[in-house]
Amino acid sequence: MKSSNSQQLFEKAKTLMPGGVNSPVRAFNSVGGTPVFMKQGKGAYITDEDDNQYIDYCCSWGPLILGHANENTENAIIETVRKGTSFGAPTALENELAELIISNHSYIEKIRFVSSGTEAVMSALRLARGVTGKSKIIKFEGCYHGHVDSLLVKAGSGLVTLGESTSSGVPTSFTNETIVLPLNDEEKVETTLEQMHSEIAAIIIEPIPANNGLLLQSHKFLLHLRELCTKYNVLLIFDEVISGFRVGFEGATGLYKIQPDIITFGKIIGGGMPVGAYASSHAIMNHVSPLGNVYQAGTLSGNPVAMSAGIAQLKACLQEDFYHHLQHKADRLVDGVKKHIEAKGYEITIYNIGSIFWFAFSDMSHLTRADQINSGKMSLFAKVYHHLLENGIYFGPSGYEVGFVSAAHSNEDIDKTIAAMCNAFDTVLN
Ligand SMILES: *Cc1c(COP(=O)(O)O)cnc(C)c1O
Repeated sequence: MKSSNSQQLFEKAKTLMPGGVNSPVRAFNSVGGTPVFMKQGKGAYITDEDDNQYIDYCCSWGPLILGHANENTENAIIETVRKGTSFGAPTALENELAELIISNHSYIEKIRFVSSGTEAVMSALRLARGVTGKSKIIKFEGCYHGHVDSLLVKAGSGLVTLGESTSSGVPTSFTNETIVLPLNDEEKVETTLEQMHSEIAAIIIEPIPANNGLLLQSHKFLLHLRELCTKYNVLLIFDEVISGFRVGFEGATGLYKIQPDIITFGKIIGGGMPVGAYASSHAIMNHVSPLGNVYQAGTLSGNPVAMSAGIAQLKACLQEDFYHHLQHKADRLVDGVKKHIEAKGYEITIYNIGSIFWFAFSDMSHLTRADQINSGKMSLFAKVYHHLLENGIYFGPSGYEVGFVSAAHSNEDIDKTIAAMCNAFDTVLN
């Protein structure tokens, strides 16, 4: 595989940006080698600067549910951009995207657009604190909520671990406001709330944790969170930056039929442009400025070009059977690979929820907690990764990252991928 152009670009990039990248995982540190520099994408395919072509399952880390350069999205962007890129004043497109979402989502009444998932989460936490007058937040080990200071925290052992930051530059006084608990453990949440509910503003969770492997939570656990939050006057925040519009238009909220107090969005909502959002009931959202006294603002919030991309993409998602088709394709991929794994007796698990899939070197059928992931096996992932790359399949460059099937993947693409994955496992494990 030719990679000289990517290598050259990376050498140059390293002199200009920390690690040569603008977001760390792109640097390929966990799989080794040189990051592949992309120059274009169309449908399910992306092409790098050395003209290698790949079937893409990273899909920009989730946003591109229609695949690359979708014609309707592209046209919407072009049409809008010709009229100016930003006004810093309200536009009709903001109404259109807000209404499109709210009228098709039974769990929210009012929405505020921001420019990233991180910003959405940060604002949702401020809102929860403003509404409850309390300051601590419960998060779960293995859930990622963007690079918000107080959420860059990992768990230690013990019942209530006051967080230790995974990043330097975060004051202890911030992480002291964060309590980290293991996923899918009802008892720990219950005892923590019993003891500390008077200080806890919110529980934040990815209802489908998909940033540290794919950790499937039991419905019962999620329902229990809802009940406890109601009992103790704690707000339940579903961080649906990945799962929103992904496992159904109403995301994990609709899938599990659980009413959270606040939902955060990102990724798919912007059709490949930078958009995030947080949404809730009228009562809660009316605490946000200028109506209420929880301040939150943004120069480029509700940017018309980004709104138009979101509108075009979400309209496509609303078409009949859109999510059924996606699910079938992801099932086809997972079933195809699984058959081979079982026939060979490999200790690998692969599973999906909707069009999100993940495989891990594990003997468990599916994982629910971060500590069940065997980090020692990530060297095997790196080998599989490079084998797939050589054979024209692009995944996010880390074994902790999930894959996404888009509407642009054909059955033929899926079948090619199954063959490549089986071949990669055979090569690496034999
Ligand atoms: C990606 C992600 C974020 C952060 O969004 P950015 O747009 O990268 O800031 C937050 N929460 C979840 C669940 C995510 O997957």
